[in-house]
Amino acid sequence: MTATTAAQAADIVAALLFIFSLAGLSRHNTSRAGVAYGIGGMALALVTTVVAAAQDISGTAVTLIVVATVVGAAVGLWRARRVEMTQMPELIAVLHSLVGLAAVLVGWNSYYEVEAHDGGRGRIADELLGIHHAEVFIGIFIGAVTFTGSIVAYLKLSARIKSRPLTLPGKNALNLGALVAFVALTVWFTASPGLGLMIAVTALALALGWHLVVSIGGGDMPVVVSMLNSYSGWAAAAAGFLLNNNLLIVTGALVGSSGAYLSYIMCKAMNRSFLSVIAGGFGVEAPTGGDTEYGEHRETTAQETAELLENATSVIITPGYGMAVAQAQHPVAELTQALRRRGVQVRFGVHPVAGRLPGHMNVLLAEARVPYDIVLEMDEINDDFGDTGVVLVIGANDTVNPAAEEDPASPIAGMPVLRVWEAENVVVFKRSMSSGYAGVQNPLFFRENSRMLFGDAKASVEAILRSLSPLDAGSAASQGGEAAMQSTSV
Ligand code: NDP
Repeated sequence: MTATTAAQAADIVAALLFIFSLAGLSRHNTSRAGVAYGIGGMALALVTTVVAAAQDISGTAVTLIVVATVVGAAVGLWRARRVEMTQMPELIAVLHSLVGLAAVLVGWNSYYEVEAHDGGRGRIADELLGIHHAEVFIGIFIGAVTFTGSIVAYLKLSARIKSRPLTLPGKNALNLGALVAFVALTVWFTASPGLGLMIAVTALALALGWHLVVSIGGGDMPVVVSMLNSYSGWAAAAAGFLLNNNLLIVTGALVGSSGAYLSYIMCKAMNRSFLSVIAGGFGVEAPTGGDTEYGEHRETTAQETAELLENATSVIITPGYGMAVAQAQHPVAELTQALRRRGVQVRFGVHPVAGRLPGHMNVLLAEARVPYDIVLEMDEINDDFGDTGVVLVIGANDTVNPAAEEDPASPIAGMPVLRVWEAENVVVFKRSMSSGYAGVQNPLFFRENSRMLFGDAKASVEAILRSLSPLDAGSAASQGGEAAMQSTSV
């Protein structure tokens, strides 16, 4: 077996490992294996790429590549170990921006290797020159859009800039104009490549990436994150064509298509038009309102909430981003256990975009060993709120906002939400009256049947646990709740 065929075989194995990884990541119980396949595939891909490159480049260049790989891996490991779960989307956005930047640099490098020398004549076969010109241009365009789009996403997700959408006059025409200009520039560059056009497409794509994401409201950010994930995949595939690296093309296409599919699923879950979101909020009107008078909110205490819970027969907990911030999942699991021991039916209602990551709440609840069978998706539980005694809204806000259903002028209008307000009593755990991620006030807090329990969610749940009246041996024995919890916990 020659070095080339060995490298090709290794590429196929790595590509298969990436496919297994995606398959594994699609289910809770196989996700660890999915991560392991991904790590294995990437390690193999790195080794193969460096070994293959070593045939054609100097020993110093190989050393530099190895040093860069070790430094990159060390930085990646350090960031991954330190990052809080709530900061994961920010980290992902930064990583996407690096993929975009890499694609831009590969495109420029390719330009200087080929097109910069007499339009590329004599550098590669004449019949492939036009294709190469187009690859350079498209790679730079996708990469630059991904780069600035991801940076804006990072700034929004980390609250360094406001999550409200920027609505420039004629924003749809601007986006459309940028696309038309890109097509025209590509045709021009393919006919007659030049440095001026390279600068023009890079600047145009950087501006478009910024504008696409800055125009999208906070409530739609989950789709933006998965959409940028998809763009970063296509940017990597474009770089793969320029570098003649089949594995990069395959990997980029896998990331690109799975990211696009995830964006589509999230758009469906949030009742958003896929095209509207990828076109930077195309067709979405500027939000109005903001000065509505909601009246007075009412407060409650941990003691009162404990009594309410003990007297309830059915309780639904709807967790949100605040539960992740407070790291309240463990006391929440304990409270669940304590109520089930008292014969109260406890279930969880999880919104598809609760928290800051797809599946964020499911991961936290699984970590706290809450049984899967009492954790229900929004569609599975939304009709049950009307028959529920108490709903505990633990650090959720946008995902339980009735304005989404009732106020057509709201920026989150049309997004499906958990209809918690239909329950007999709603207790909202948060620290203040401030709005959720989308920056929209929540009329739920002012409803007759709502009570605010102010404070850090973890401290509040722990206070409720302390306030529960002691369980007498008879009622504990008569309930199978605890046993059920243990037997089905993960
Ligand atoms: P929100 O982000 O709407 O609200 C979280 C609430 O938690 C805030 O109102 C905050 O209020 C409260 N909170 C924060 N810290 C604490 C704490 N320590 N103790 C108690 N409460 C706390 O949460 P949701 O989960 O309902 O909605 C998620 C939002 O994030 C949606 O708009 C979604 O579109 C967006 N998003 C989701 C992503 C995903 O993939 N899931 C990715 C990107 C964005 P206060 O400050 O008063 O305590």
